[in-house]
Amino acid sequence: MINKKPKVGIFSLASCEGCIVQILNLEDQILDLLSKVDIVDFRVLKEEKEKAPLDIAFIEGCITSEKDVKKVKELRENSKILVALGECACTGGKFLVKDFKNHENPLQLKEALVNAQPLDQYVTVDYYLYGCPIDKNEFLELFKNLLIGKTPRPKSYNVCAECILHEKACLIEAGLPCLGPIIRGGCNAICPSVGKECIGCRGLAEDANIDSLIEIFQKHKIEVPSFLKHLQKLQKSEVERR
Ligand code: SF4
Ligand code: SF4
Ligand code: SF4
Repeated sequence: MINKKPKVGIFSLASCEGCIVQILNLEDQILDLLSKVDIVDFRVLKEEKEKAPLDIAFIEGCITSEKDVKKVKELRENSKILVALGECACTGGKFLVKDFKNHENPLQLKEALVNAQPLDQYVTVDYYLYGCPIDKNEFLELFKNLLIGKTPRPKSYNVCAECILHEKACLIEAGLPCLGPIIRGGCNAICPSVGKECIGCRGLAEDANIDSLIEIFQKHKIEVPSFLKHLQKLQKSEVERR
C-alpha cells in the first residue's frame, strides 16, 4: 500500500490533452479522489509544487523531443509507479503517422526533435491505460486500485466480449466493418453500443486473429480495409521472425 497521502503528478507531453479532459469529466468523483492525494503537478489545475519523489506519475502524450526524453527519464527515476495514459503515451498514437523528426519543423519548435515514440521506448511503464481518449471509468478504477495497493490486471479480452453484454445485433451482420474482434477491450464497447463500428482506438488485443476477421468481412461482403491487410502482413512477418 502507498503512503497515507500519496504524491501524485499528472503530466502531458505531445498530445491533444483529450485524456486529461476525460479525467476532468469525472467531475465530483475526481475531486473526491484528488482530495485523498497530494497533487504535486497537474497543469490544468495550475498545481505545481515540489515534484520528487512521487508515488504515482500519470503521463499523457507521446515523446517527440529531447526535452520530453529528459522529463520522462526524470519522472521514472523519481516515481514509484508510472502510468501511460492513452494511445499517444502507450503506442505513440497519431504522432507516429506524422513523425516530426522526419518532416520540416512545422510548429517551429525550438527544442531538438526525436522520432515520435511511446513512453516505453525510453522508460519502464508499470501500467497502460489504452484508448483515444482513455475511458474515464477505467482511469478511476486504476487510480483507486493503485491507492489501495491492489495490482491492476491488464485486460486480455476483446471489444466483442463487452459488446455482447449490451445484447445488441452485431454490426458485422449488418455489413459494417467493426474491428471489435481484434481490438483490446476495456471501453465497455462504447461505440458498437450506440451503433458505431469499433475503429480500434485501443490497439490490438492479445492473440488478435486478423486472418479470421478478414475472412468474416469477406463472408459478409464487407470491403477489407487496406490497413487490415497491412497489419496481417506485419503479424505474419512477426510470427516468422520469432
Ligand atoms: S490518446 Fe488521443 S485523446 Fe489522448 S492525448 Fe492522445 S490524441 Fe489526445
Ligand atoms: S458489433 Fe463489433 S464489437 Fe460488437 S460483437 Fe459485433 S464485431 Fe464485436
Ligand atoms: S469501441 Fe473501439 S473505437 Fe470505440 S472506444 Fe472502444 S476500442 Fe475505441
